[in-house]
Amino acid sequence: MRDLPAVSAAALVTFAGAGPGAADMLTLAVARALAAADVVLHDRLVSPGVLALAGPQARIIETGKQGFGPAMAQGDISALMLAFARAGHAVLRLKSGDPAVFGRLDEEIEALEAAGISWRILPGITAASAAAAALGASLTRRGRNGELRIVTGHDMAGYAEQDWRALARPGAVAAIYMGRRAARFVQGRLLMHGADPATPVAIVENASRADQRVIAAQLGSLVADLAGVDGPAVLMLGLAPRAAEAAVPDLREALR
Ligand code: SAH
Repeated sequence: MRDLPAVSAAALVTFAGAGPGAADMLTLAVARALAAADVVLHDRLVSPGVLALAGPQARIIETGKQGFGPAMAQGDISALMLAFARAGHAVLRLKSGDPAVFGRLDEEIEALEAAGISWRILPGITAASAAAAALGASLTRRGRNGELRIVTGHDMAGYAEQDWRALARPGAVAAIYMGRRAARFVQGRLLMHGADPATPVAIVENASRADQRVIAAQLGSLVADLAGVDGPAVLMLGLAPRAAEAAVPDLREALR
């Protein structure tokens, strides 16, 4: 194995992806940064198994929940990060999945840039990748979808508007993050734009974790199919678990 790049002494703040939950879905670079960090500022969705890889010297601080608004205001998180970095500590800003996907990464980078503090990014496996693996499905497929959309169910203003016409097309594939509470809105918008109610929407809850659950839902019954799902879940529009694929008329149509 070739040598891994060393942690740069100049990078005071490392933004890192903790992956979808399972500790063995971390990159070696993130595991190394965890072992070396003085301070770990992590989001709620980062699992205890991942945090256990931090060194004994590390102060571990949870910055709050994801979903409908952060528990700690964004400005406070940035201020905390700045204070530790200014004091010379190696700060690891650990976010679930990949820090560049719905991770408010730019806001935090801008705060560091304004203060002249150096930073770097170590990517992670995003929930959509872990969900696709759980389904045994491919995110892109020749003849079906040459594009993959990563969308959020809601943003700061409330439920998020998307290009519903494109998403409603047969064969469209999208990973809908933070979609559980927005499911009725998403379902309504897609049906309004002509999507077939039989369109598969695989629900993957707790992807990669021991309590992972896969539900082969359809657009028309999405809200009912989500009953009982209360963990982090990604809605995989246009995808069905491989075993259920043959039973989905829409997919057969798209693949012909
Ligand atoms: N940066 C993260 C996403 C943060 S937004 C990433 O790249 O994965 C939080 C949303 O991510 C959750 O509402 C859920 O939709 C999704 N998510 C995160 N972890 C998940 C998991 N293990 N299984 C399913 N969905 C997950």
